[in-house]
Amino acid sequence: MKISGMNLRKKKELMEVSRTYFLDILERMYEHVTYYNNMSPFPIYDTEYVNDLKELIEKMKETKEEYNDLPVYFCTHCKSLHIEVDEQNNDICHRCGAVNEIAKLANIEEYNNKYSKIWE
Ligand SMILES: [Zn+2]
Repeated sequence: MKISGMNLRKKKELMEVSRTYFLDILERMYEHVTYYNNMSPFPIYDTEYVNDLKELIEKMKETKEEYNDLPVYFCTHCKSLHIEVDEQNNDICHRCGAVNEIAKLANIEEYNNKYSKIWE
């Protein structure tokens, strides 16, 4: 099941409820989406999504928590780590909109080994 970007935009408060984010992957995602948006005559990735991503990166830079040993959750469709939890406890992929289609790995290193190529 998927929900549209429109629905996600109405749920701005979701941005406040975050699972685990990882700065290096987020920054690579950000570079990826801004690169392709700049190459294209019109934005491929929703500009609000791109801005949200940037906000998250800034937020993460301010936190002092150690993320390297935490389990990671990612979307099984697009492998994005950008998962939000809504009011009904649904896991929503903020990139492709997939709902409750997430998988878990023990830590970011495992994720990087498997999927980091996606964001290059
Ligand atoms: Zn996804």
